[in-house]
Amino acid sequence: MQLQKLVVFLAGCSGLVAAAPTEGLRLIKTAPSDPGRWVTEEDKITEYKAKGLHFVDITEIKDPDVLAILSTPELEEPVLSRRAVIYPTGVTHQTQANPLIAQVSNTSPQSWLKTLTDFYNRYYKSSYGTQAATWLFNTVQIVAAANPAITVTQFTHSAFNQPSIIAKIPGTNSSLVIVSAHFDSTGGSSTARGPGADDNGSGVVVILEALRVLANAHFQPKNTLEFHFYAGEEGGLLGSQAVFSTYKAAKKNVLAVVNQDMAGYSPSGKISIYTDYVDSALTTYTRAVATAYTGATTSDACGYGCSDHASARSNGFPAAYVCDEKMATSTPYIHTSNDAYSTIMWDAVLRHAKFTVAFLVEASFI
Ligand SMILES: [Zn+2]
Repeated sequence: MQLQKLVVFLAGCSGLVAAAPTEGLRLIKTAPSDPGRWVTEEDKITEYKAKGLHFVDITEIKDPDVLAILSTPELEEPVLSRRAVIYPTGVTHQTQANPLIAQVSNTSPQSWLKTLTDFYNRYYKSSYGTQAATWLFNTVQIVAAANPAITVTQFTHSAFNQPSIIAKIPGTNSSLVIVSAHFDSTGGSSTARGPGADDNGSGVVVILEALRVLANAHFQPKNTLEFHFYAGEEGGLLGSQAVFSTYKAAKKNVLAVVNQDMAGYSPSGKISIYTDYVDSALTTYTRAVATAYTGATTSDACGYGCSDHASARSNGFPAAYVCDEKMATSTPYIHTSNDAYSTIMWDAVLRHAKFTVAFLVEASFI
């Protein structure tokens, strides 16, 4: 306390912005009712992530609307209900979707996931994490090059070097349908080996395979389709938070965000569609698409701040979360050095990639 007062006093005298006593610390929030707590970068991983505790890093969030949603119990949905999109009650574009789904394979995903998991880790503040981002950016560009209309951009972040990456297939209108997956990883500390195969190399290769198929086919959507590869999810949803904050400020019309975080470990053989901290109407539609194209689904809830759909939601956009398995039977290797390529169940990856192509085709006509 003594030091804190001194620092504030000195900063006031010099006319500088007061140096917070919390310099170097991060403010994280673990529940709607949690006002936030200051922790070190390392504690975010070792004391929360590695112990299965979810949080949102709210250090940079200044928008009162976003903070209000992050502090509201999830079932209340106060602001979001006023922004509702009307979704179709079922699927209607099998004729367009099925030939594209037939092009989905595991050949490229296996090659991409091998490279992703060979990085020592993809921790968002490590040099490995930056190298992985560079490789992913180049790879997305190569995949997208099949259709020159597709753009690929890096979304840089001010507090860390790992950029997020966004590919866009322009539609005949600017309304957005977004599929997303984070590509950073953690092995349980900032320096641990973190192959991040299921979490979330699997989600990355799933949406990249969907992009490959749609790019090769020169698929022309009505709505604009975006593929988001987020940095810094394991640090408290940092990449997605910055992207959706920018989209909110730009007043982008987002029809749907379908997030996939873990798509390669599924003893049940069924896609699991999570029901908490999501848009319920979009979730119903997402389940209809998944059921029509991949068969029966399961449901579960993963709690506060469990993945990047929470960032879309807190910025007022409709979001759903599609996972490979219910919590109780999901990968036992999460956030450890054992989340390895060899543990991936490739039938799950194929199922998620087919679902993703189906969803993008169906939702492109909303
Ligand atoms: Zn994770």
